[in-house]
Amino acid sequence: MGYKVKFWGVRGSIACPSPDHMVYGGNTSCVEISVGNQVFILDAGTGIRALGRELLRQGRRSATLLLTHTHWDHINGFPFFAPAFSGDFALRIMAGHLSGKPGGIRAVLANQMENPTFPVPLSAMRGTLSFDDFAAGDTLTFPPGAVVRTGALRHPNGSTGYRIDYAGVSVCYVTDTEHIPGQPDENVLTLIEGADLVIYDSTYTDDEFPAKVGWGHSTWQEGVRLARAAGAKRLAIFHHDPDHDDAFMAHVEDEARKMWAGTLVARDGMELTMA
Ligand SMILES: [Zn+2]
Ligand SMILES: [Zn+2]
Repeated sequence: MGYKVKFWGVRGSIACPSPDHMVYGGNTSCVEISVGNQVFILDAGTGIRALGRELLRQGRRSATLLLTHTHWDHINGFPFFAPAFSGDFALRIMAGHLSGKPGGIRAVLANQMENPTFPVPLSAMRGTLSFDDFAAGDTLTFPPGAVVRTGALRHPNGSTGYRIDYAGVSVCYVTDTEHIPGQPDENVLTLIEGADLVIYDSTYTDDEFPAKVGWGHSTWQEGVRLARAAGAKRLAIFHHDPDHDDAFMAHVEDEARKMWAGTLVARDGMELTMA
């Protein structure tokens, strides 16, 4: 049982499989958080394809997909999530940025699979799918013991940050979000307070950031500042820029460890046992 985190996709923007992205990985955002006998899937980037195969191999029958938002890099693995096509699999899909919008999350996922941009419609998914639109900021409960707190992030078209508490362990998933230099984001600080692990949008470095203001992303250095200010124990640098090849990411890893020993750089396939 316990509390496990596994990274299936750690990139932002677009998948970038190439010989220069072998070490850190090229799949877009998807993180599995297993608590007790429940599986939470954070985002449905291209990494979700391999996760789906693993869930079927394990004989799992259900999962909850928590979406930060619906930019391509967070949903375009969804049509390749095999369990959703299985008649005995139940998938609950939740999003916090579309509350009150016509059709909500179901419509966005269905449109992605519409003719002529995809050959297999959402209706071909034979699993039991349910769609929930909540408002970022709501607290969601998953008996028997998981509590998911949420918060709105600063991102074009909106994004939702998550904190999953279970058995005394807290892991936060905070992507995609942009910071304002010198003004720590209060929503983020509240969400990550005292967390055991914070997975954070570290698309850029502080040096690159001035040229990217308004693009909706943050830096690994801001992640360190926020994690320390909130008394979090560890920071996972995440949502890597596809332009950052393995050599660049190794340098980030080095620099980040020098700034704060609590950092790690997420890689495709990395697994952390939290409890
Ligand atoms: Zn993204
Ligand atoms: Zn985005």
